[in-house]
Amino acid sequence: MTSLTLAGIRKRFGKVDVIRGVDLRVADGEFVVFVGPSGCGKSTLLRMIAGLEDISEGELRIGDRIVNEVQPAKRGVAMVFQSYALYPHLTVRDNMGFGLKVRGVPPHERRQRVEAAAATLKLDALLQRFPRELSGGQRQRVAIGRAIVGEPDVFLFDEPLSNLDAELRVHMRSEIASLHKRLGNTMIYVTHDQIEAMTLADKIVVLRDGQVEQVGTPRQLYERPGNLFVAQFIGSPK
Ligand code: ADP
Ligand code: MG
Repeated sequence: MTSLTLAGIRKRFGKVDVIRGVDLRVADGEFVVFVGPSGCGKSTLLRMIAGLEDISEGELRIGDRIVNEVQPAKRGVAMVFQSYALYPHLTVRDNMGFGLKVRGVPPHERRQRVEAAAATLKLDALLQRFPRELSGGQRQRVAIGRAIVGEPDVFLFDEPLSNLDAELRVHMRSEIASLHKRLGNTMIYVTHDQIEAMTLADKIVVLRDGQVEQVGTPRQLYERPGNLFVAQFIGSPK
C-alpha cells in the first residue's frame, strides 16, 4: 500500500517562501494531478516528494514511513521529467537499465526488466538506438521506461508531454492512462494542460502561490469551482 501524506509542508529558498504549508493525502493507486500557474511551486513540490529538494518544514510520509531524511533512491519513487533527461551517449537499453546498474542489480535481471518495460512501451525494436535517433514521443517513452524498470511504488511526472506536438500529446496521454490502469501505481502528475488534467486525474489539486487552492475530482472542480481562479484553471464557465 503506498499512500502519501504531506503535512504542513513548506519550502524556503533563502528568504522566499515558495511552498507555504501544503497538506495533502494521496491514496494508494490514486492518480493525482497538480495544476496551477507557472511559478506556483508544482515542480518544487514534486522534487521534494522525490527527495531532490530538502523539505524546510513539515512531514512527508510515503506508505507508513516518514521520508524527510530518506535519500531519493530509497523512497520508492521515480520521476519523469519534461526534458526527458536521457543520457545521450547511452543506448535506449542502457538508459533504461542505468539506475538498476547503479543499484547493483545483476545483468540478467537487468536485461529481463528492461525488456519487459520495453515490451510494455513498445520500445522493443529501439533498444540499440541512441536518444538522438529517436522522435520526441519515443524519447519520452524511454524516460517513462526508465522509471518503470525501477519498479517504484510512486510515479512522479513533471509536465512529461509539454515538449510534444499536439497529436502526439493526445496519444501519449492515453498511453499514460493505460499504464496507470495496468500497473495500478500511485501517480502524481504535473501539467498546465486542462484536458490532460481532466482526463487523467482521479483527483486534481489546484495550487496557487505555494498553497493548495482547492482539491477535488475533475467533476467536482468543474461543477463547483470554489472561486474564479479555480474556474479559470479548470475551464468551467463560472
Ligand atoms: P512551477 O513548477 O509551478 O512552475 P516551481 O516549483 O518551478 O514552479 O517554482 C516555484 C517558485 O520557486 C518560483 O518562483 C521559482 O522561481 C522558485 N524556485 C524554484 N527553484 C528555485 C531555486 N533552486 N532557488 C530559488 N528559487 C527557486
Ligand atoms: Mg514546473
